[in-house]
Amino acid sequence: MQLLEQAQDSVRLSVSTPEEDIRAAAAANDSLILEFEAFRDGRGFSLAAILRGQGYQGRLIAAGKVLPDQVRHLRRSGFDAVELAPGADAAPWRRMDQVFSAAYQSASGDDRLVWRQRHAASANDDAVALAARLNAQWGEADAEDLLIAVLDPALGRKAAAISSFGAEAAVLLHLISRVRPDLPVVFLETGQHFFQTLAYRRNLASRLGLTDVRDITPDAAALSTADPRSDLWRRAPDACCAVRKVQPLAQALAGFDTRITGRKRYQNPQRADLMPFEAVGGVLTVNPLAQWSVQQIEGWLRDHQLPRHPLVEQGYPSIGCWPCTRAVEPDEEARDGRWAGQEKTECGIHGRSLAPVC
Ligand code: SF4
Repeated sequence: MQLLEQAQDSVRLSVSTPEEDIRAAAAANDSLILEFEAFRDGRGFSLAAILRGQGYQGRLIAAGKVLPDQVRHLRRSGFDAVELAPGADAAPWRRMDQVFSAAYQSASGDDRLVWRQRHAASANDDAVALAARLNAQWGEADAEDLLIAVLDPALGRKAAAISSFGAEAAVLLHLISRVRPDLPVVFLETGQHFFQTLAYRRNLASRLGLTDVRDITPDAAALSTADPRSDLWRRAPDACCAVRKVQPLAQALAGFDTRITGRKRYQNPQRADLMPFEAVGGVLTVNPLAQWSVQQIEGWLRDHQLPRHPLVEQGYPSIGCWPCTRAVEPDEEARDGRWAGQEKTECGIHGRSLAPVC
C-alpha cells in the first residue's frame, strides 16, 4: 500500500457520493480519492470493491477517517494508496500492512491467496521441469517436429496457440495448419485493430484451413468502465492493454496448460534469450520459432507463397493496434513503430502470463 502525504492529480469524492456519480467519475479519471467520513463507515470499502469488480484499472486512494488497522481491508477492497492525515506517523501503517503475507479468502484487490500461492508454486515446479526436459530433448529440433512432439496426444497437454495475425504470423499458423489445423488459435480482437488486420485474419485462416480460430473480445462491462471513450491507449497504455488484452487472454486460456506463440529472439532485446520451451506462471509455453532468423522467416513465407499482411508493403514490419503502431523508416528497427516515443515495448504480461506476438 502506498502512503501519500497529499494525493495529487486525483478527483476527490466522498464515500457518501451517489454510486452513479462515482462510477461516472471512474469512467473519466485514472485516479480517484474516496474520502471516508467516519471510522465505522464501510461504504468506501464496498465502493472500491464494486469499481474493481467492474474493471476499473485506475488508482484508488483512501483518505479521511481510516486507521492503520484497516490497511489490509483497504488493500483487499481494491485501494492502492492511502492519503495520511496531516502529521500522521506512517510507521503503524507500514507495520500493519505487513502483518499478513497472504489470505485464505479471495477479495477484489488481493490475489495473495494461500491456496493460489501453493498451487502456483507446485504447478510452476512441474512446468519448469517439463520445459527443461523438452528443451533437452527437442530444443534443437526443427519447428514442425517440435510442434508434432508437443501436440502428441501421448504427452497429454491441452494446448492453444496465440496469434496477432500480424506481419510474420503466417509462418507459425502455416506450421500449425500442417500439424493440427483444428488446434485452438486465440486472436485478441481488441477493438483497436487496423481493418487490414481483421481482413487478413479472416483470409489467412480460411486459406490455411484453420478450423478453430477464436476472436477474443474485452469484457463489455470492464471496457465501458475502464475505457468508455476508447482513448485509454493515449492516457494509460498499460491499463488499456490490461483491459483489452491481458484480462481477455487470461480468461480465454484458462483451462489450457500449454500455449504456443510465434515469438522470436531477434524481435527485441527482451526476447534475446527466448527458449523453445519455457515455464511461465506454471504454464508450458512453446516458442517453435524462437531460434529462427529474419531470413528464415522471409524464406518460409516466400517458399510457401504465404500471403503477407497488407500493411507490410506500406512500411509496417510489426503490427499491433492502430493507435500504437506506425510505419518505420528504413533505418529503424522493426518494432520501433510500436508504442513509438514511449518506454513501453510489450503488452505488459510476459512476466506471469503470456503475450501474443503483439
Ligand atoms: S496496443 Fe495500444 S490500443 Fe492496443 S490494447 Fe495496448 S495500449 Fe490499447
